[in-house]
Amino acid sequence: MAIILVIAGFDPTGGAGLQADLKTITVLGEVGLTVATALTVQDTQGVEASYVVEKKIVKQQLDRLFSDFSIDAVKIGMLPNAEMVNFIGERLSQHHLPHIVIDPVIRAKKGFILNKATEALVKLFPLAELITPNLDEIEVFLGKKPESLEEMKEAAKKLKNFGAKAILVKGGELKTATDVLFDGSDFYIWEVTKRQLKPVHGTGCVLSSAIATFLAKGLSLPEAVGKAKKFITLAIEGALSVGKGNLLSHPYA
Ligand code: PLP
Repeated sequence: MAIILVIAGFDPTGGAGLQADLKTITVLGEVGLTVATALTVQDTQGVEASYVVEKKIVKQQLDRLFSDFSIDAVKIGMLPNAEMVNFIGERLSQHHLPHIVIDPVIRAKKGFILNKATEALVKLFPLAELITPNLDEIEVFLGKKPESLEEMKEAAKKLKNFGAKAILVKGGELKTATDVLFDGSDFYIWEVTKRQLKPVHGTGCVLSSAIATFLAKGLSLPEAVGKAKKFITLAIEGALSVGKGNLLSHPYA
């Protein structure tokens, strides 16, 4: 059985963050370990606040997990500030963990800033087998938001220089509706199929934890991304309208 460590934020709706990651890993039949870096206050209508978890607690939790489990993959989500980013970077380097997938979370769909330390976040990229930015995140890292498939490919090449082994550019919001994977030599392109009329909350979280899970199961990176894409498409098609705002992603196998 594969064990996937998730280091991310807590979202009480469970549509995004740690619980969405854990649901994903669970329905894919593997074991998820979860360490919270921040506790957010939010519902389907948006994020109201975010409270950073004390570094001492994160450290203690990680120490226990590292000494008890043999970890097969890591998914990094929301890291609220530079102190947390740097601390997680140190820990990951010390433990030489396999298959690190970083979802470089910066802002919620409705605008709330979830990470206030994007420069520090970039320094973690060399640890990653894959980073999964969306177009808004690319704008923060590169200063320009890609507007076409060609620009997405250019952005992936530029982001590669920050040191991650591979980049998945998520272009679901573009007319071309494609996702682009660049591993330093080849491009792989997936059409984004079904869309929902309302935004779906937590899609980036579910996708990146599904990729980490498939990598932990031993799939190659393009295979893992391809299977995770199918999985997130189902989670979007089956998204739940349970609150007054965005739909909630609904991972199921
Ligand atoms: N809350 C947490 C804890 C998250 O990790 C994320 C995204 O990664 C969000 C909220 C934002 O989700 P959305 O982009 O669907 O608004």
